[in-house]
Amino acid sequence: MAILDIRGVSQTFGEGETAIQALKPTSLSVEAGELAALLGPSGSGKSTLLLAISLIQPPTTGRIEIGGTVLHDEGPTGVDVRAFRLRHIGFIFQQHNLIPFLTARENVLLMLQLNGVARREAARQAAELLDYLEIGHRADSLPARLSGGEQQRVAIARAIAKRPAMLLCDEPTGALDGKTGRLVLEALLA
Ligand code: ADP
Ligand code: MG
Repeated sequence: MAILDIRGVSQTFGEGETAIQALKPTSLSVEAGELAALLGPSGSGKSTLLLAISLIQPPTTGRIEIGGTVLHDEGPTGVDVRAFRLRHIGFIFQQHNLIPFLTARENVLLMLQLNGVARREAARQAAELLDYLEIGHRADSLPARLSGGEQQRVAIARAIAKRPAMLLCDEPTGALDGKTGRLVLEALLA
């Protein structure tokens, strides 16, 4: 089954003579369990596409179906997009991922609790995930006290905590050096 199916998704910012087409009409399908990578030079519309897919920034044209639910079809379809995104989509950005005034553990806990996991169970799962990503020993640190690679591993823990149907990553290793980037990529693929 296709976890993601998009047809004719495009994005234009502004109107008239100053309009900028950030993304030409794009169609693609990704199977459940499949790993797909978007490759393209800076400014080619990769981030714009991810923001459109997740409907953080709905597209100008096109249809977006995730896990059999049509979230957008040339306009809203009546599905509660915020609730759907919270439950089914994990997002990891290049940087500025974590809430700065919450510890690593609290960042993961918050996502679980927003998804309705009870406090005790959320605490257990958060600890398990942070251990799994080998940052359990930094669980009570604020993001600013962690290295870039550690921060991204917390971001991965938070994104996969709710077991999303789809994980969207926008250059998750872009702010890291090569070696740290490889570690984060390995954690992501594990
Ligand atoms: P990539 O992620 O592939 O580097 P982006 O999706 O960020 O590319 O950007 C694609 C194009 O759209 C760029 O030319 C960028 O300047 C433009 N763009 C992105 N967001 C906006 C916006 N909110 N308003 C106007 N132009 C934008
Ligand atoms: Mg980008």
